[in-house]
Amino acid sequence: MKKERKVIDAHLHIFGHCEFGDRLAHGIGDEPTQEYLTEKYYGRLGIEKGIVMGNGPLEEQGKNLGEYFYYSAGLDEKDSWLKLEEIESHLQRKRCVGVKLYPGYYELYPNDKSLYPIYKMTEEYGKVLSVHTGMVAGNGGHLKYCRPIHLDDIATDFPGLKIVMCHFGNPFLQEAAAVLEKNPNMYADLSGLIEGAFETETFIKDQSGYLEILKSWMHYVSDYGKFIYGTDWPAVNCFEYREFIKRLVPEQYHEKVFYENAVRVYGLV
Ligand SMILES: [Zn+2]
Repeated sequence: MKKERKVIDAHLHIFGHCEFGDRLAHGIGDEPTQEYLTEKYYGRLGIEKGIVMGNGPLEEQGKNLGEYFYYSAGLDEKDSWLKLEEIESHLQRKRCVGVKLYPGYYELYPNDKSLYPIYKMTEEYGKVLSVHTGMVAGNGGHLKYCRPIHLDDIATDFPGLKIVMCHFGNPFLQEAAAVLEKNPNMYADLSGLIEGAFETETFIKDQSGYLEILKSWMHYVSDYGKFIYGTDWPAVNCFEYREFIKRLVPEQYHEKVFYENAVRVYGLV
């Protein structure tokens, strides 16, 4: 058997057992706990580290994370972005790689000036701002806040801040590619381009047009140093998702996309 390369999953969620976590994980035949995740996938896929995108109360995030994980402090609760001291205390922790925003799940554009103190602080700590872009899960979200174009303002106003556009803005790919191309400090993670149970070969046959469009816009950006592998687990099975991304990214860039870019951008050690 060919030896698998090292991998970092730079976008996943540990929901634990709760209504939402169970529903998502059970949809792909998994359980939503970190023990289940590492046991089932990490050894077999050569996954060295995972970055947990935080959810829920800020004060609970980053607690009880196993040795495999870093995390990004997630602001997915209304007004959590007002808790500057709490956010700063996360940024001071070694295992915290930055801040994650969830626009679309609350009604605030990511380029809203009220968020700028968070960006300034994240930049000062040399950490990363990750922002949900593209399709929202469920009907409760608001798509207009999730367009990649809003990140252009942040990238321009904070040229020293590294910003990861999660999900490559999918399906706003054209806009995502423009923002990536223009800004040297913008990156994109390739998590969540598919959700739920799927089988790679069948999906690729059924959705060959979608795959070609994705490939075309990635090729247009023509810098594979900007694309970072992530899964959005438990939204997808990690075995299938890796196969899918292997088909999407030209082989000569696999090392960068599956490993090196995450280490460099997120400053993993
Ligand atoms: Zn996610």
